[in-house]
Amino acid sequence: MAIVETEELNPFAVAVEQFDSAAERLNLPQGLRAILREPKRELTVNFPVRRDDGTIQMYRGYRVQHNINRGPAKGGIRFDTRVTLDEVRALAMWMTWKCAVVNIPFGGAKGGVIVDPRTLSARELERLVRRYATEIAGVIGPESDIPAPDVNTNPQIMAWIMDTYSMHHGYSIPAVVTGKPVAIGGSQGRVEATGRGVFIITREACRVLDISMDGAAVAVQGFGNVGSVTAKLLHEHGCKVVGLSDMYGAIYNEHGIDVPAALEQVKRTGRLTGLPDTEAIEGGALLELPVDILVPAALEGQLTHHNAPAVKARLIVEAANGPTTPEADAIFHEHGIAVVPDILANAGGVTVSYFEWVQDLQRFFWNEGEINNRLEHIMVQSFNAVEAKREEQGCDFRTAAYLLAVARVAEATEVRGIYP
Ligand code: NAD
Repeated sequence: MAIVETEELNPFAVAVEQFDSAAERLNLPQGLRAILREPKRELTVNFPVRRDDGTIQMYRGYRVQHNINRGPAKGGIRFDTRVTLDEVRALAMWMTWKCAVVNIPFGGAKGGVIVDPRTLSARELERLVRRYATEIAGVIGPESDIPAPDVNTNPQIMAWIMDTYSMHHGYSIPAVVTGKPVAIGGSQGRVEATGRGVFIITREACRVLDISMDGAAVAVQGFGNVGSVTAKLLHEHGCKVVGLSDMYGAIYNEHGIDVPAALEQVKRTGRLTGLPDTEAIEGGALLELPVDILVPAALEGQLTHHNAPAVKARLIVEAANGPTTPEADAIFHEHGIAVVPDILANAGGVTVSYFEWVQDLQRFFWNEGEINNRLEHIMVQSFNAVEAKREEQGCDFRTAAYLLAVARVAEATEVRGIYP
């Protein structure tokens, strides 16, 4: 039993299992399967940071590039004490499929540092970021691998990475990272892009599943960059957000939470609990609330065979990467619960990152309206392609998205051939 539990919570094992099942359905030749199952490059770095009190502490970080056959590697950087090499590998592989499902010319990568940034002062954090950026400088670059924010990283951290990389070269290289502040080549709309994409995909999924968004009860797990914007947009478009959670706890109001007030409180106090007109509930209970739509927007491995049987939502939209294990997926399928997979649902972030990179390379910037229109277009087009595949194959959304994405990456890999 213990082995099963460990395997279930190993995100890379989950990612490979998801790939294998698509490869099987696509009848991919053995050689292609073998190539696509493995990350292309994995860099582990151990580096010292001087604390403000003069002591030295060692940190471990990673940068993994899963596949670069469709273009430069692309993927966020996560700062968390739970970061492992297998987690970064999984996230890098998911980035490959994500870029392919929305058909933007990137491969997949991810980075991480084992650290809780809340334990560092602002100066310590800056030193850690600049040193990590220097350690991975050999593999990142505007033509090779372009980082972006993920859990516990933000535009300021991207600015330090961009500045560090630029200092090494002696001139500004804004296209080395995305999710930067607008003042140094960031894109309008990037901060909101992932949540906006989740909203667009939720709206489209509701349309094809005949779920009215007007008054639909929603629970959102995680209230960071992605969860908070998703909750705000769903609230603005008529949904009744009844449950919200963050790492400190969950809150509930069956008549609907005042989402703008929640945003305001989190800005002030850093947490959701204690919001007026809400009751505190267990974090786990949030996932089992009687809702129409459940949006996991925190971390991977949240919906497992333990809690999946108790999930009551009709639609699950994966704003987080890898929140559902394959066992939970099978239970949802059996129960008629639709799951829109991460590689489609949260692809709005990398899509606007692509716009940011293009704008940086061209030194020509678009306004927020143009960004949001182009984002809307790509998300709807991608959703429709996945939906058409789902209809054609009589399968679920995840299988359909994987069939499209893996076929695109496989084609690029095959046509390029094997060097030498
Ligand atoms: P973030 O650091 O801004 O927010 C994470 C949120 O999750 C915080 O509110 C935190 O309190 C909460 N959280 C952590 N552990 C929790 C737990 N056990 N229960 C409930 N809440 C918990 O991170 P983010 O950028 O919003 O990323 C969230 C997810 O979305 C991750 O899976 C990330 O990989 C994915 N994602 C992010 C982006 C992006 O552009 N930032 C793009 C695509 C996917």
